Amino acid sequence: MNKNAALVIFSGGQDSTTCLFWAKKHFDTVRALSFLYGQKHSKEVELARAIARKADVEFEVMDVSFIGSLGRNSLVDTSIDMDNEKPADSVPNTFVPGRNLFFLSIAAVHARELNINHLVTGVSQTDFSGYPDCRDAFIKSLNVTLNLAMDEQFVLHTPLMWLDKSETWEMADNLGVLDLVRNETLTCYNGIPGDGCGHCPACHLRNEGLHKYLERKKCAGNCTK
Ligand code: ZN
Repeated sequence: MNKNAALVIFSGGQDSTTCLFWAKKHFDTVRALSFLYGQKHSKEVELARAIARKADVEFEVMDVSFIGSLGRNSLVDTSIDMDNEKPADSVPNTFVPGRNLFFLSIAAVHARELNINHLVTGVSQTDFSGYPDCRDAFIKSLNVTLNLAMDEQFVLHTPLMWLDKSETWEMADNLGVLDLVRNETLTCYNGIPGDGCGHCPACHLRNEGLHKYLERKKCAGNCTK
């Protein structure tokens, strides 16, 4: 196993782009893997490819579009309007059931072929949108399962797990890529890169976090309360 190599599950969004540059700081060799899962906005893969080129990392795309067709959700089905907030009694309809389970499992098999045992994913429990597969307990459990399944010592890294969105922006800034993340990533559920449409749940979270971070930065050392 190449102990200094990592495979980043990379969508070209704010979180995974921050993780890509985090990985570049911590590992000698970094590769990025994107998935096509039937998402409405497949141009996110082209943006991801462009970012990976800038980051000078190897980039691959895998077509796993069967995942999107297994369960009904608004990210792949144009006939469903997106939930703007989490319903009280269920997950939002932007939830793609099994997505992180499949992504990480496929990534682990692929990493094994490449002699890589470090996997990096941008999931976060803090801004938990009601997605059960973004929780730390799920990641830890899957890590054990992957090791048992393949008799390997995979390490799943989740650098954003306990950060809120403003702290994720701060990490991007500390890594020297705040402008790149702000202008070139796609997080918006309506497929608009950069600051996005401004009104979907993903834009709300992203833009509120950015505002909060920039306020904090502006204030640093000067604010009395
Ligand atoms: Zn949006």
